[in-house]
Amino acid sequence: MPKITGVKSIRTRAAGTRVIVKILTDQPGLYGIGSAHDQNATGAVVAAIDEWFAPRLIGRDAGHIEDIWQSTFTSGYWRSGPTHNVALGGIDIALWDIKGKEAGMPVYKLLGGPVRAAAPCYAHAHGRTLQELEDDIRGYLEDGWQYVRCQYGAYGAEGMIPATEARLPRNLSGQFVRDRVFDEETYVQNVVGMFAYLRDKLGYGPKLTHDAHEHLRPNMAVRLAKLLEPFQLFFLEDVLPPEQIAYFRQIRQQCTTPQAMGELFTNVQEYLPLISERLIDFIRVRVSKVGGITQAQKVAHLCEFFGVQTAWQEGGNTDPVNQMAALHLDLASANFGIQEENDFRPEEKDAFPGHAVLEHGYLYAHDTPGLGIDIDEEKAAKLVNPERMRTPRYVAEDRKADGSLVRP
Ligand code: MG
Repeated sequence: MPKITGVKSIRTRAAGTRVIVKILTDQPGLYGIGSAHDQNATGAVVAAIDEWFAPRLIGRDAGHIEDIWQSTFTSGYWRSGPTHNVALGGIDIALWDIKGKEAGMPVYKLLGGPVRAAAPCYAHAHGRTLQELEDDIRGYLEDGWQYVRCQYGAYGAEGMIPATEARLPRNLSGQFVRDRVFDEETYVQNVVGMFAYLRDKLGYGPKLTHDAHEHLRPNMAVRLAKLLEPFQLFFLEDVLPPEQIAYFRQIRQQCTTPQAMGELFTNVQEYLPLISERLIDFIRVRVSKVGGITQAQKVAHLCEFFGVQTAWQEGGNTDPVNQMAALHLDLASANFGIQEENDFRPEEKDAFPGHAVLEHGYLYAHDTPGLGIDIDEEKAAKLVNPERMRTPRYVAEDRKADGSLVRP
C-alpha cells in the first residue's frame, strides 16, 4: 500500500483562490489531487493544509481513506468549520484520486459504478432586462440545455432599486452608502413577474430555477415560494438564510415549490434535519466544503432514503477538480438530481488536463483511472497575479435603504 510522503497546497487563478491539494506517495509517479477552494479565507485554508494536516499525514497509508478522514476531522478537537472542512475535503478528494489510480479505475466505478452516462447540468442565464434574460435562456435551449437558472440583473439585483429612487435617512454616510439598495417587496414582486413573463414567452417545457441568495426575511421567503407555485419551478434555491432553516416547515405546509439548499453548510447538523424531515428536495452542499467525496457520498446515501436528490454546488467560484469530484458522485448516485454548471476559461482548462467536458447541457467524465484530471503546475502558476493575490477579498455587501446589511 502506498505511503504518503508529501502534502502540498498549490494556489492558482488570478487571485490565487483556487487551492489544489497534491498528495505524493512513495510509489513512483503515484500522487493524487484534490480541491480546497475558498474564495475568501484562502490563506487560512493553505495554512491548515501545510502547517496542520501535512505533518500528521506523512508516513500514513494513502489507502486508509476513512480512517484518515475520521482522524483528520477530529484532529483539531473543534471540527466542522468551513476552513477545516475544505482543507479536509481537498485531502480526501486527493486520496480518492490515488485509490482510483491504484485500482486502475475511474473513481465513479469505485463508488459503485455508473447509474447514468453523463450528468445533466443547469445553465446560468442572466439579463439586465426581461428581454435580455429571455434571449439568454433561448440561447441555452437552442444549444440543447434543458435546465436553466434565471436571474434578472446582477447578484440579488431583482430587489435592487437605485439609491436616488429610495427614501434614505438624512444622515446616511460611510459604510452605509450604496448606489443601489435592496428592497424585499420589490424583490418578490420582480421575481414573480419574471417567471410570469418567462412562462408566458417560453411555456412550461424548460425546467427553470431561481437562486434567492438568502436575501429574504423568513416570512417573505414563505410568501415567495407560495407565489411562485403556479410557475412550476424545477427548484427555488437558497430562499432562506442558513440561520432560519426552521421556516422550511412552513414552506412545506403551504406549497409544492421544490426547495434546494445547502451551499453555505459545512456541519452535518445543519443539513441533517432538512433531510430527515423531508423539508428540502435537493441538497446543494459543495463536495469539498463538507469534507470531500467520503462525506458527500454518505450525504447522498442518506438523502436517498428520504427522497432528497443531490445538486452539488459548483457556480463561479469553485475549480475543475471540485467539479470532477462532484461529477464522479453524480455518475454513481441513484438519487442524483442535477449538477450546477461551471465552465472555465480556456487558459484555466489548459492548466487542468483531463478536466470534465461540458457539452450541450451534459457534463462528461472519462475512463482514466482516478479522478481523471491533473494539474499542470507551471501553467497553473502562470495564472496567478501576485498583486491580486495580496488584495484582501470580501463577500460583497448589499444594504437596505436605512444602511442595514442584507445577509448574503
Ligand atoms: Mg445559491
